[in-house]
Amino acid sequence: MGRYVIGRREPARGLDLSGLNLQQQAVVAHPPGGQRLVIAGPGSGKTRTLTYRVANLIAMGVPPERLLLLTFTNRAAREMLERVEQLVPEDAWRVHGGTFHSVGNRLLRRHAAAIGYQPDFTILDRGDAEEQVGAAILDLGIDTRKRRFPRKKVVLNLFSACINQELSLQEAIFQKAPQFQALLQPLQDVAQRYVERKRAANQLDFDDLLVGWSLLADPPPEANEALRAASAEVCGLYREVLVDEYQDVNAIQGRIADGMASVHGGLTVVGDDCQSIYRFRGADDQNILAFEARHPEAERFYLTINYRSRPEILAVANQSITHNPKRFIKDLEPVRESNGMRPWLSPLRDRRMQATFVAERILDLRDEGIPLNEIAVLYRAHHHATELQVELTRRGIPFMVRSGLRFFEQAHIKDVLSFLRVLHNRRDELSFHRALMTFDAIGPATIRRVFERVHERLTAGADPLAEFEQPVWGNLVGARGAKSWQAVVKLFGQLVRLDDTKVTEMIWAILDSPYADHVRYSYSNPQARLEDLQQLADYAANFDGLHQFLAELALLDTFQAEEVVESEEPDEKVSLSSIHQAKGLEWSRVFVLCMNDGLFPMATALREPGGEEEERRLFYVATTRAKDELYLTYTEIREGRRMRQDLLAVSRFIRELQGVKNSQNQPLLDRVEVVFNTDPGLEAPKETKALEGD
Ligand code: ATP
Ligand code: MG
Repeated sequence: MGRYVIGRREPARGLDLSGLNLQQQAVVAHPPGGQRLVIAGPGSGKTRTLTYRVANLIAMGVPPERLLLLTFTNRAAREMLERVEQLVPEDAWRVHGGTFHSVGNRLLRRHAAAIGYQPDFTILDRGDAEEQVGAAILDLGIDTRKRRFPRKKVVLNLFSACINQELSLQEAIFQKAPQFQALLQPLQDVAQRYVERKRAANQLDFDDLLVGWSLLADPPPEANEALRAASAEVCGLYREVLVDEYQDVNAIQGRIADGMASVHGGLTVVGDDCQSIYRFRGADDQNILAFEARHPEAERFYLTINYRSRPEILAVANQSITHNPKRFIKDLEPVRESNGMRPWLSPLRDRRMQATFVAERILDLRDEGIPLNEIAVLYRAHHHATELQVELTRRGIPFMVRSGLRFFEQAHIKDVLSFLRVLHNRRDELSFHRALMTFDAIGPATIRRVFERVHERLTAGADPLAEFEQPVWGNLVGARGAKSWQAVVKLFGQLVRLDDTKVTEMIWAILDSPYADHVRYSYSNPQARLEDLQQLADYAANFDGLHQFLAELALLDTFQAEEVVESEEPDEKVSLSSIHQAKGLEWSRVFVLCMNDGLFPMATALREPGGEEEERRLFYVATTRAKDELYLTYTEIREGRRMRQDLLAVSRFIRELQGVKNSQNQPLLDRVEVVFNTDPGLEAPKETKALEGD
């Protein structure tokens, strides 16, 4: 007779925590359930602690798919989960992780019906959302020329503030745009019409992903049965919710995280109030306090040791942030030892010189054996690095841009995506409009007629795209557009016959249609644009199907054009990044460009209340990205139009550091003059760095 033993699994074991200090271990070993708040400065191991906590929960027997990890970028979640995979043998990829928007999207695909949508909804990007707002204003017959009315972009920003900060429209107008107080009623009508339009077209904008998710995570008292049932299911999914970069979570996101932890209780958040840099998106450095008000039982943990930066770098960051009086955290203690090098401060004549210096210094560092991917150049605004991009390209130094003109927000890319969106969601009027507008002699009136018919045919249960050739379509286009209409019929005929997984072929079909002529006649650089589109076709091959492709693109908030000069070693690239995009990351050598007053801090930010503090936190984030060496540069002259030269002042963030000494009784910054050596015999004087003239 056989025997069946119950309880034969090994008892759950914890993880080896020797890679953590005692403060970090306390967080990681804290039992599942309950709430924890970890407040700590940069480089103190918040992200590492969260990663270990995920691994430890799995090691203690929590199934990976019962964990939810919310991070600032999707890539951060992937990297953390790779690390988890190394710590525990279990399948870490089963952990649900990503940004609030991407996780929201995934959950809403399953529960769209509960919030009154169909699961194949399209996600509107900013530009498309603005178009919908514009259309809503038109629908209401508001004559924006007769009466001064905010532009659609401004209107959308107001709606967005309402959602992210959980304000009523009245409150948002009062706080952010008092000049529109008299327009409250029409704006309210536009808001309502905008919602209706999106619903009719089965479209969600970015904010709706949060709104939809918040309905599931925290349903209102008046919720119907279906929503209640979906909510119970969603809130029961996860045993523990973990949130990185909590200081930049806004009101609705905070409520979502709470709701998701409401059934099983487990919630761990980590953050640093001094690194809160998304005020313009509704983040508030008071969030962390609000967390404790909502969770009075939460335990608070501190991490006080900095593992990232050399003491000389940390001294600069610590000193700078003392000028922001309101903050939780005291100075950080470095564990790393001095390398004898203080952060450099180098004035350069202008942006071209700044670019030359940075490029030269990068080459020196490479000669010293520093891999290029350990070097980053950070800036407050993307255009600060234009000259540098040119210089790096000229010298063949490979680099990647972590932020910039968004690849997917360029007109030609959006055109092609609009064809794909129509295929994916036949009700998507905006995309339909955009796609057809690229054909000669087909205008808005025609498109409206055609779309009305599309709508009728959909309601009749037919697939309009597949039956364009049939008599039911008659002639809606008129003689002038007849030729183009034939091309439309032919193209959509081809597209609908392609299997849903053949996205690459779909893009090629579009490129083989008269759309290519549209590109040739509409842009001054058609060749580059057509090449972009070919790249898009290649990129599409990475996806299983149209649905996945479009959802991913819509969510790639950080996916931007990567201007890459190829090198032998594809990973060996210098990173160029805005400071906002550099959050949470670290490099051995970091340059910060354009440390000029008016550029950093940015002049426009200084005009807002709290703006200077927010800019200073950005400076704090920038300096604390550096592990070993930090270079701050500023320029003395800006050449304006007609050869006019403006003198530029050094940033107040630099001036604030002057006169302060570090623990070795030296000035915090090492002022290093850069001289351009045009005479090969010239010795560089002490304390100056000679560059080869070119
Ligand atoms: P930020 O605020 O910039 O996001 P953070 O607090 O999340 O920083 P991490 O990125 O987790 O900090 O850690 C910073 C660096 O210190 C990483 O390289 C990490 O591996 C290292 N580190 C953290 N804790 C330890 C430790 N106990 N022992 C050794 N290295 C550590
Ligand atoms: Mg971190």
